[in-house]
Amino acid sequence: MPNIANNIAQICSELGENTKLVAVTKTKPLSDLQEAYDSGFKRFGENKVQEMCSKYESLPKDIEWHMIGHLQSNKVKYMAPFVSLIHGVDSLKLLQTIDKEAKKNNRVIDCLLQIYIADEETKFGLSAEETYQLLLSSDFQNLAHIRVIGLMGMATHTDNQEKVRAEFRSLRLLFEELKKQETQNMQMKELSMGMSGDYLLAIEEGSTMVRIGSAIFGHR
Ligand SMILES: *Cc1c(COP(=O)(O)O)cnc(C)c1O
Repeated sequence: MPNIANNIAQICSELGENTKLVAVTKTKPLSDLQEAYDSGFKRFGENKVQEMCSKYESLPKDIEWHMIGHLQSNKVKYMAPFVSLIHGVDSLKLLQTIDKEAKKNNRVIDCLLQIYIADEETKFGLSAEETYQLLLSSDFQNLAHIRVIGLMGMATHTDNQEKVRAEFRSLRLLFEELKKQETQNMQMKELSMGMSGDYLLAIEEGSTMVRIGSAIFGHR
């Protein structure tokens, strides 16, 4: 059995003051989340809307819930009342749906654009060019109930550290470029990159948010 509280404390001690931890709890039982919560930790990431909603219902209400998975438009409404940050947004259509559901709930929902940085076919995300097109469009700029507050990316799953580093760096450079062009609903504050296998590299390359599951809760 992993010692959840110890693992969280250990990782937090490695982060430095500019990087936050999102503990990825997908597939893990409520008792694991409760154990983390009881140790004082309150920021969880899930990749399925239904699972996140049912955990939300069962746990204390001061938890910050992050949606880190690929998202279908028709599921947005279920989490719109409470989700804290949506990491994996990769289309204008999805942003428009989130905007509509946020408006119904009288709130502004923070989102990250998922950028494609790996050279693996299974990873979702926008190219740099698509990102500019999206952010510069008036359709995007008219959305008043969402805020894009940064970028998210996943590096290639490989032992080649220099490759992973280069991918994280390319995301960081795009982040820095966009920072110069902030608008009403686009501010570059969070750079979500780094998982159990590569978070130390991600931090070196400027990550502000690491998403870590198995290094805390054990293998899924
Ligand atoms: C599962 C998942 C993680 C965490 O992965 P670990 O290797 O268990 O740390 C991070 N980000 C996303 C998008 C995930 O789906």
